[in-house]
Amino acid sequence: GGGAGTGGGSRFDLEKETELRFEVEAGERVQLELLSGLAEVFGSELNRNKKYTFGAGSKIAVFTWQGCSLSLSGKTEVAYVSKDTPMLLYLNTHAALEQMRRQAEKDNERGPRVMVVGPTDVGKSTVCRLLLNYAVRLGRRPTLVELDVGQSSVSVPGTMSALYIERPADVEEGFSVQAPLVFHFGSTSPGTNIKLYNKLTSCLAEVFSQRCEVNRKASVGGCIINTCGWVKGSGYQALVHCASAFQVDVVLVLDQERLYNELKRDLPHFVRVVLLPKSGGVVERSKDCRRETRDDKIREYFYGFRGTTFYPHAFDVRFSDVRIYKIGAPSIPDSCLPLGMSQDDTQLKLVPVSPGRDLTHHVLSVSCVEDDAEGGESRSRGILESPVCGFIVVTAVDTQAQVMTVLAPAPRPLPRHTLLIMDIRFIDLK
Ligand code: ATP
Repeated sequence: GGGAGTGGGSRFDLEKETELRFEVEAGERVQLELLSGLAEVFGSELNRNKKYTFGAGSKIAVFTWQGCSLSLSGKTEVAYVSKDTPMLLYLNTHAALEQMRRQAEKDNERGPRVMVVGPTDVGKSTVCRLLLNYAVRLGRRPTLVELDVGQSSVSVPGTMSALYIERPADVEEGFSVQAPLVFHFGSTSPGTNIKLYNKLTSCLAEVFSQRCEVNRKASVGGCIINTCGWVKGSGYQALVHCASAFQVDVVLVLDQERLYNELKRDLPHFVRVVLLPKSGGVVERSKDCRRETRDDKIREYFYGFRGTTFYPHAFDVRFSDVRIYKIGAPSIPDSCLPLGMSQDDTQLKLVPVSPGRDLTHHVLSVSCVEDDAEGGESRSRGILESPVCGFIVVTAVDTQAQVMTVLAPAPRPLPRHTLLIMDIRFIDLK
């Protein structure tokens, strides 16, 4: 341990295989510096004598395999050194995956497809980041598949996405998100439209498999799939569906023996299901905390992250220039469905939305689908299965003038005119 003041900061001397955990107080910032030795944050190595800044609410662990000295300045809610971490188990998991990649290379096969599952707040995203970092540091090119629609690490909430990882995550900002493949889901819980959730999981699996066919490095690198913390009922079924859609080879179950046993029972025998402990450092997040993180993610999309500032644009869009849809009609009792129609059809139906005042503050996805794509059934399937090229927020609606004012990352005009409405709202306070 440590804590003795050094030039404004507190100094921590860590023995090998221990970690310094800290949380940044609300409204504060904390600076971290590696004074000597080697250390990493969730698998990203720290540079010596460089100051890293973490914003309010950050929950960080600085782990060292060899031992190190750190300096921490600013207001932390907690800061302590722990010797009790599952890092060795995580490293062994990485080693096993790397072995599979080597074998795949030799046999001209595909690399490991890994699904990380577990209830909320067990460190799923963190384990994904760690495994991706370790792989990319060895020169691999793994793909992160982000299925957590509540807390996406890749795009705004309400989306499902895939990101090809070419360099380790930035210590402060996470993985660089250039050219992710993003699909519109529209809400923060898979349960809102489980049919759509499963459908988009399949879409992502298909795109990933296509990429693997033409890109050997992507194929050998495999993928790490981050999932939602909803592991019961339809949430559990969605995990089973995902395992089959991606043809996963390995499932890492964090911290829940029951889920581990269920998956062992229900997945084909060749899928390796592994139970891993969660880290004692993972911090439980309250509902409010999650909402804030979601808000931050949307704000970041428009305004950028500390280092890189974006300047979003506000402009008017005429109702007549866009087509707005919601995916999924309200479900009706089976007995009332028209002949030949199933409940699935209603969940995957595109419902035109006539713009009104209640659109205000909603996040809308801009679909990549061509504006002049043909109409009817195939067009709606096209919209559902098309990635999105960006997001806008409706900041005001003028029903008299038939226009809405939007916040967009780029100046007018919109790149495409098919918009999909999310349940998610964002209030722009800037
Ligand atoms: P969700 O329920 O949203 O799916 P999760 O299971 O993916 O959550 P994470 O997001 O990985 O959990 O972790 C929750 C929080 O705990 C994050 O803020 C993360 O930075 C922090 N955290 C993870 N591991 C540690 C650790 N060893 N020490 C301190 N903080 C940690």
